[in-house]
Amino acid sequence: MSATGSEPTPTSTMRIFSNKSLAGPLLSFLLVLALMIGTSSIIFYVQSTLSEIEEALPIRLSKQERDIRVLVNEMGKMTQTIKFARAYQSPKVVSMVVRQSFEVEKNLEQIRDKYRFNDVLGVSAIHAKLNPAIYDIRNWLSDGIYNFGPTSGETLRLVEQRARDAHKEAETLLLKVGETAIEVLGTQASRIEKFRNIMILTLTALAIMTMVLVLLGFRLQRIVLALKESEEQIRYRANFDSLTQLPNRPNFIEHLGEEISRNRRHPVKSALLFIDLDRFKTINDTLGHDFGDELIKQVAIRIQGAIRETDVVSRLGGDEFTVLLPDITDEIHASIIAKSIIARLAEPFTLFGHEVYSGASIGITISPMDGTDANTLLKNADMAMYEAKDQGRNTFRFFTSQMTDRAKHFLELDKDMRRALQQNELQIFFQPIFETRNDSLAGVEALLRWQHPTRGMILPNEFIPVAEETGLIEDIGLWVLRHACAAARPWLASNLQPNFYLAVNISMRQFKRGFSNAQLKKILHETGFPATNLLLEITESLLMEEDSRIKEKLAEFRDMGIRLAVDDFGTGYSALSYLREFPVTALKIDSSFIQDVASNASDRRLVETIVTMAHGLDLVTVAEGVETPEQDALLKELRCNMVQGNYYSRPRSIDDIKHIVSRGTPKLKAVRTRY
Ligand code: C2E
Ligand code: CA
Ligand code: CA
Repeated sequence: MSATGSEPTPTSTMRIFSNKSLAGPLLSFLLVLALMIGTSSIIFYVQSTLSEIEEALPIRLSKQERDIRVLVNEMGKMTQTIKFARAYQSPKVVSMVVRQSFEVEKNLEQIRDKYRFNDVLGVSAIHAKLNPAIYDIRNWLSDGIYNFGPTSGETLRLVEQRARDAHKEAETLLLKVGETAIEVLGTQASRIEKFRNIMILTLTALAIMTMVLVLLGFRLQRIVLALKESEEQIRYRANFDSLTQLPNRPNFIEHLGEEISRNRRHPVKSALLFIDLDRFKTINDTLGHDFGDELIKQVAIRIQGAIRETDVVSRLGGDEFTVLLPDITDEIHASIIAKSIIARLAEPFTLFGHEVYSGASIGITISPMDGTDANTLLKNADMAMYEAKDQGRNTFRFFTSQMTDRAKHFLELDKDMRRALQQNELQIFFQPIFETRNDSLAGVEALLRWQHPTRGMILPNEFIPVAEETGLIEDIGLWVLRHACAAARPWLASNLQPNFYLAVNISMRQFKRGFSNAQLKKILHETGFPATNLLLEITESLLMEEDSRIKEKLAEFRDMGIRLAVDDFGTGYSALSYLREFPVTALKIDSSFIQDVASNASDRRLVETIVTMAHGLDLVTVAEGVETPEQDALLKELRCNMVQGNYYSRPRSIDDIKHIVSRGTPKLKAVRTRY
């Protein structure tokens, strides 16, 4: 994946939805569908059953009616037979009636049983009427036959009467049956109608509910899809840099971790390149964030152009990029890629029509030798990158174990320095500066010394860069200013030179961060040191900064009467004419030019040019690091205004410098021999 970011890498981040997330809504949709089909078929069943009942009811009623009619008829026949038996008074006919009564009774029982559960028309009522009558008739007839003789006309008349009554009553009931049937049918029909209406209502409600549910289901589905989409987006944002679409730091660390564990299992090496742009901050600060962003985008594209498909580029943040080169056979491969990236980034960039140069420094670590976990590899590559920056930028460095030693040393030094500041281990030495015109003392430069309890005297070149890096220089700088002013205050009275000055070095970081006018005024006020006798030595690089506040601050210092000198002049890149913009009063020509000024013609010409042009700009020139009488003589010949160096005097402790200062214009020999 050459960092197009097209395939989101799997990360340990939890998924909001499982891959089966569609199964949920689908399942419920199917369930609703099944429910719908189920309910509808039940309703359909009920409905059709009801219709069946509806249809069957009159038939069934008429069946009941017919049965009852049969009974009534039979009863009628029996009454006829009794009448016949009475007319003829034949025992034969009487016993026939008895048999007939058994028959009728049996039929009656049967019919009653038949309608035991569905006696809509009142069969039992008819049964209740007829049965005891038939029973009585039979008993009387039997009695008549066996006890009173078959000819007992009275008995037969009574029997006939009874039978006729029963028949009549049965007929009356039969008449009622029709009415009852109509009534029953009517109520049943209206009940069924009601039932059907309820059913239709229920069905409609169900259908509407189902429809609503289905719609809700669709909506839910849409929400789920939208959520899934935003989940993907969030996942992408968590893993990729939005500006370059490259994998971001966590994503890269995961890749690196995987690569490291692969390196552990197989005998393969991989390289990690840590890339940092050299001029990003300046471009970002001076041209604005849009330019910075555009630069980052273009850098990402150029880096991607320098690597293989299998290599992974990522943006860690800011102007830091990393490249993981898996499976390298040789470190040379890593250096080839690094060189190619550096070459590509050294070419000018066109940002919204502006041409800018960035350049990059690269640190390289090799897995598994330089670290067995992602963070160590990254940290070490970062360290190697800083080393490359120290080596003059636009270059690369492989990580070495000495770098870690140096880092450890750095941390130790920082810790010790904090203690030193509290426990008065710091000291200020002063180096005199002389006028070339008459060898009189022009001023002194305060130079910091550290009396380390175990390591002895440590020179500033060893610890000031560390203090600048950690920020401790802010406290140290104020300490130097306060103590130098306090120490030099009494010398002003004894010194014959009204212009005598105290020079104090102010480092760039200190100037930009922890150095306010108020602080300076406070120190001058507390020590009673006049601003007009103070000179601050600043570096060329500070003047190169494109920050208007710096110019303002320098102007304020000048307004207070403080003098300003450019230290180590000539080592940077500032053009002389550029100095006109700043309220600078002096240039300190760097000792590297003075060293060979007497022997090297081009150095001599350079110093001459600086002096001539400086005078043209009304600037005082000070030569640093004057060590020999030849250098001294030549500088005087070139009309350099002031000299400073071991030829005159080394930096001295307060006690030692007092004597020189109080004498003002020293006899040089005396100074050199005594100290
Ligand atoms: P610098 O400001 O260029 O100071 C001059 C350096 O040259 C001093 O080194 C001094 O001892 C040395 N030097 C003087 N005469 C000669 C000579 O004839 N030959 C040679 N070879 N060297 C000579 P030092 O004291 O070690 O300081 C080194 C640097 O540390 C200073 O360079 C300055 O940049 C920085 N520094 C010293 N004190 C302070 C301080 O209080 N604050 C800050 N910010 N930086 C300081
Ligand atoms: Ca200096
Ligand atoms: Ca210097």
